[in-house]
Amino acid sequence: MIKEYIDYPLRELNSFHVEEQAARIIEFDSPNDLDKIFSAENRPSKWYVLGGGNNILFTQRYDGVLIHPMGCGISIIDENNDSITICAEAAVEWDDLVENCVERGLWGAENLSLIPGSVGASPVQNIGAYGAEAKDIIYRVHYFDTEECKHLTLSNAECRFAYRDSIFKQELKGRAIITSVEFKLSKHPAPNLGYGDLAAEVEARGGATLINIREAVCDIRRRKLPDTSKIGNAGSFFKNPVVDKSVADKLKASHEDMPIYPTADPDKCKLAAGWLIDRAGLKGARRGNVGVHERQALVLVNFGGATGADVINLAHEVQKTVYETFGIEIEAEVNIL
Ligand SMILES: Cc1cc2nc3c(=O)[nH]c(=O)nc-3n(C[C@H](O)[C@H](O)[C@H](O)COP(=O)(O)OP(=O)(O)OC[C@H]3O[C@@H](n4cnc5c(N)ncnc54)[C@H](O)[C@@H]3O)c2cc1C
Repeated sequence: MIKEYIDYPLRELNSFHVEEQAARIIEFDSPNDLDKIFSAENRPSKWYVLGGGNNILFTQRYDGVLIHPMGCGISIIDENNDSITICAEAAVEWDDLVENCVERGLWGAENLSLIPGSVGASPVQNIGAYGAEAKDIIYRVHYFDTEECKHLTLSNAECRFAYRDSIFKQELKGRAIITSVEFKLSKHPAPNLGYGDLAAEVEARGGATLINIREAVCDIRRRKLPDTSKIGNAGSFFKNPVVDKSVADKLKASHEDMPIYPTADPDKCKLAAGWLIDRAGLKGARRGNVGVHERQALVLVNFGGATGADVINLAHEVQKTVYETFGIEIEAEVNIL
């Protein structure tokens, strides 16, 4: 079914809770609805997919059409002795999917507990946390190609997943609407506890069961990240910068406690953007209605009443200060409209 609204308020549809409007918003629940929405006579000239709005900053009225998936079915499509393949429609809440997997005793999604957003958005930036990424469990992605007006499927390899990146942010940007995602979960225990304080938190709960890992991740996240229902934010505003190893080594010589993470490329390293912002003196900084979160410097927050432009101005100040302090450019992870 297709539903359409004009001049739609977006405050409750973006986790920054900025007060903007969309000229039109179209909700659809079946992939076949997209054939009609994108038919030659209806085709919108400007459109964008809006999932849960947890990674989007609206800086002005959106004068095109926001396409908003509503289908939220979950089904098992394959099972053998080792694994189960689950297909989830785009509007399924990501954390409902994780909970569903944990309740069924399936391994692979637990470290990604409590990431806000929809299943349909999960492949786009290859969501990740606590040493796991969506790419580790995504089997196939079904999408509607708005150029060819065709329903197509990509395998995991074809999605070209990388750190906070995929084909949906590259060649298929502005072209693909993800309608459902298949995930392959393991029936065999495979705890992934190598990241930060997770192992200790899980141990304190009595060992590496799926439920203990999920609860540990949820608790750590609740402690570290502001609750979007109370204070507007989009999680990490910036990506961790990937730099040449020589650049990282040089910085490390003058900042011994600077965290450095290896990447798949031995000549490159990942730095912690939150650490850079903190050491540039901006953790907890407030500028009017916006600020850098006091516990997590990667997160920019709307204390109430901020506009998208207020957030952008602060983001630019953070980028400039980090560059002046360390010579490192940090890039926004959030989609700015
Ligand atoms: C408090 C907080 C914590 C967070 N923590 C993490 C974290 O740990 N790790 C992490 O990776 N992210 C994190 N995020 C970011 C966010 O949760 C993810 O980016 C999530 O995938 C956004 O889902 P969404 O449905 O809200 O997508 P939206 O914000 O609506 O959209 C994000 C992007 O995906 C596109 N998109 C959405 N749905 C579709 C679709 N069906 N088809 C095609 N394109 C689509 C949009 O056009 C947009 O470009 C956090 C955000 C918040 C607010």
